[in-house]
Amino acid sequence: MRRGWLIYSMRRYFSFFLCGLLLLLSACQRQVETLHLNGATMGTTWSVALHSLPDSVDPVELKLQLQAQLDQINRLMSTYDPDSEISRFNAHNSSDWFPLSAETADVIELSLLISRLTGGAFDISVGPLVELWGFGASERRQQLPTDEQVAEQLAKVGYQSLKIRQSPAAVRKQKPLLRIDLSAVGKGYAVDLLAEMLNRRKIGNYLVEVGGELRIAGKRNDATLWKIAIEKPLEGVREVKTIFPLTDIGLATSGNYRNFYVENGQRYSHTIDPISGQPIRHKLASVTVLDPDCARADALATALMVLGEEKGRILVEQNRIAAYFLIHQDESFIEYSSPAFESFLRQVQL
Ligand code: ADP
Ligand code: MG
Repeated sequence: MRRGWLIYSMRRYFSFFLCGLLLLLSACQRQVETLHLNGATMGTTWSVALHSLPDSVDPVELKLQLQAQLDQINRLMSTYDPDSEISRFNAHNSSDWFPLSAETADVIELSLLISRLTGGAFDISVGPLVELWGFGASERRQQLPTDEQVAEQLAKVGYQSLKIRQSPAAVRKQKPLLRIDLSAVGKGYAVDLLAEMLNRRKIGNYLVEVGGELRIAGKRNDATLWKIAIEKPLEGVREVKTIFPLTDIGLATSGNYRNFYVENGQRYSHTIDPISGQPIRHKLASVTVLDPDCARADALATALMVLGEEKGRILVEQNRIAAYFLIHQDESFIEYSSPAFESFLRQVQL
């Protein structure tokens, strides 16, 4: 019997929550003038909080430039746009080289690197399984997939069948039905491009956010560190679990508490294990990764969600990844901070 289809897709509200919280936190400090710019992109929202804007920069112009940059990334990488570069590559059922923009090639190259680092936990060719489990662009199926259907889609998946080259940038697939889905890394990449635009304009104190992924630089106007809130990973609840003072870093969070459905009492998450072909099922509720490169933080956060708390811990400790886990325990959570995460926090507070 079909019962209890529930979907929570509240990611877009996270940014409002975050901005609200930041405003609240700044309000506790000396009153400062902060410029907030925001808009919509990638099915979610973006926002930029700026302190110390150089006189030469016009805020209205800057907002248009930031939005134009995001629109350009969408035109290249959105799987919701049938004319995007990625959609055209997905529809190209041949193993010939397919010419690409340098931007898309960079994101694919980084993604393949993270796939190798995580033993395939992160895989941008997982799209057919995302669709099968009801989290893609097409309408959700009425029934859960059968093992045969999972095996059929699994046969189309595998980052090892994807080859990338630079100058001239091009990609090729060795399986004709392989498709790419950059949802788990695209928002982080967009954050990096916006941050670089601000750096080029000599804007030194900022917070950039796209769909909850962040990059921050410098300090707030009152010379205190930016304070970043990590939510409790609970459905339908907006509560702060912890607040970290941070500077000069990218930050990405993945969780299984925003985008999932429940069928027969079982939770199905939008993060798929590309090895088993199944949505993840373990006690890890959310992962936050710090990295100067937000795209890398974004991809790693998703990969760690796939690996789960035990394998995830081994990976972050062996590779000095700065990660913070919230793990379900009874009705509450336990926290885990990797040694690299702890040492980053100690450093910024010096
Ligand atoms: P969010 O979009 O909520 O920030 P993520 O960054 O973790 O979450 O990305 C989740 C999206 O990534 C899914 O909706 C799906 O499209 C895709 N995805 C799911 N599993 C994987 C995986 N193992 N590797 C790469 N991408 C994945
Ligand atoms: Mg991600």
